[in-house]
Amino acid sequence: MKIYSLANQKGGVGKTTTCLNLAMALSKIGKRVCVVDCDPQSNLSSGLGVNGSSGNIYDVFSQRKELDEIIREVNHNLFIVPSTFDLVGFETEVKEEEKKEKILKEKIIKTIKNFDYVLIDTPPSLGLLTLNALVASNSVIIPVQGEYYSLEGLTQLLKTIKKVKELLNPSLRIRGFLLTLFDRRLRLAHAVEAELRRVFKDKVFKTVVPRSVRLAEAPSFGKSVFDYAPNSKGALAYMELAKEILKGDEKKSSW
Ligand code: ATP
Ligand code: MG
Repeated sequence: MKIYSLANQKGGVGKTTTCLNLAMALSKIGKRVCVVDCDPQSNLSSGLGVNGSSGNIYDVFSQRKELDEIIREVNHNLFIVPSTFDLVGFETEVKEEEKKEKILKEKIIKTIKNFDYVLIDTPPSLGLLTLNALVASNSVIIPVQGEYYSLEGLTQLLKTIKKVKELLNPSLRIRGFLLTLFDRRLRLAHAVEAELRRVFKDKVFKTVVPRSVRLAEAPSFGKSVFDYAPNSKGALAYMELAKEILKGDEKKSSW
């Protein structure tokens, strides 16, 4: 079972869109996938048409429920642990608790089994929720918006990942940087891509997710882009990303 977090403390870079559509693409290829909504905004849950009112990840963080009690089926290969706005209370409530960064990891180990992939969506901050996700993960996928200033914000994220590695999860890796919201007509976007590839080399996914209005529209129908606009360039890009990730993961496990 591979556990990947989608993380970037910058808001609106495509974390949730990537989590949702990458998970759906992997499930369509036949992998069993669970997505975990670790964001009080709950965009991942609503984007899949799931409401967390009858049980959500806040119940798990506050030790009232286990993950397997609240997990919901989206299709026969895709499951979701939904969130709710209540989760916003978590960061303040557990401040004093010991092992507060390890709650999610322990809960996943305890009850989440039989999945090929677990993808965790995180909020736009480097607070306790994102830390829980990083501690629970094998690797991080970092969506980067194709615009100039986004590169500067990466320094803080990389520092946090380094710290988590040193103190809490030594095996944490960066799975890859993903260019999202990429507008080929903008010269700036190409400059950002060139700089990202120069600095992070083969850690940058070959797949680039274009700016596509279908990707932005799909969540308001509670659908992935594959159900909303299966032939759109956004759908094609996320399928390509899923295949690129599978190929890379298979190569690694045969070493
Ligand atoms: P937050 O930090 O607030 O959680 P996020 O990083 O999860 O944001 P998303 O919610 O995935 O980012 O995307 C931000 C907005 O951009 C959303 O309205 C989404 O529908 C839209 N969007 C994401 N990716 C694309 C794309 N490739 N093309 C067009 N619109 C996109
Ligand atoms: Mg989001």
